[in-house]
Amino acid sequence: MNTIRKASTMAAWSRRLHREGVTIGFVPTMGALHAGHRALIRAARLACDAVVVSIFVNPTQFGPTEDLSKYPRQLGLDRALCRAEGVDVIFAPDRQTMYPPGDQTIVTVPGLARRWEGEARPHHFQGVATVVTKLLCLIQPDISWFGQKDYQQSALTRQLMKDLNLPGRLAVHPTVREVDGLALSSRNVYLSLPHRQAAPVLYRALQAGAAAIRAGERRCTGINQIMARVVAQESLAIPEYLAVCDPLTLEPLSTLRGKALLLGAIRIGGVRLLDNMLVSLRGKASSSSGPRSDPS
Ligand code: AMP
Repeated sequence: MNTIRKASTMAAWSRRLHREGVTIGFVPTMGALHAGHRALIRAARLACDAVVVSIFVNPTQFGPTEDLSKYPRQLGLDRALCRAEGVDVIFAPDRQTMYPPGDQTIVTVPGLARRWEGEARPHHFQGVATVVTKLLCLIQPDISWFGQKDYQQSALTRQLMKDLNLPGRLAVHPTVREVDGLALSSRNVYLSLPHRQAAPVLYRALQAGAAAIRAGERRCTGINQIMARVVAQESLAIPEYLAVCDPLTLEPLSTLRGKALLLGAIRIGGVRLLDNMLVSLRGKASSSSGPRSDPS
């Protein structure tokens, strides 16, 4: 397994593999890899001949008061996980490589970035869109994997790839969870024990929303109230948003028809937790690949 740090080396490696007819799967990450990332890597491994994992804590997607400097960094452990999973290349550029002095171009996807995380974190999605565009142009993957946990990010990336004719296609992997339902996240290490015990309340709220829909509730205000009531039962949790929206546009819905996305963010002990669940009126809710049984 190679670790590549230079953009020109990364691009040359991809060009060579494409010339040889090798398909490339790509998993963009910020490192501190866990079983959620590992599931994306395994899916990439199954579908493509070669796998690239990028590890880059992208400064432009953090706000001035956010956790950029204390975001967990553990390249040694990440390398071990990638090696064990048969990753071919880790692309670990530094800031100067991704944002050379004098660079000017910013990518925005205004419609899909407007609400939810975009409202809570101004400029977050233009940082995401810009770095994803740069990475896809360099790596030229056949398939790029994103996690459903960051639903808005994957929806926005799909739009971006279509609008800019970026290479390859996007695949979304279901959210990987702890046994109590908490979605795995690199930021979960910030949770103290009481906060960790409180954290699954977001998943329970989404489950309650989905159960109400299965029981026949079609008014989104009713579903929102049910989700809000569950979160309110946990005194350590501060709700940021809990919504029922259109899975394609991410606009809030008033009445359910067809498919809906239950979307939520809460704050517990200063840590923001995100989660979501897709609900189909004809089928069942889907948000995860089931509770995790393998140790990370
Ligand atoms: P991050 O390193 O947090 O930027 O995440 C890199 C990729 O892994 C993103 O596409 C995330 O959505 C995905 N991811 C993070 N946590 C999970 C999870 N629990 N299950 C599935 N995918 C995840």
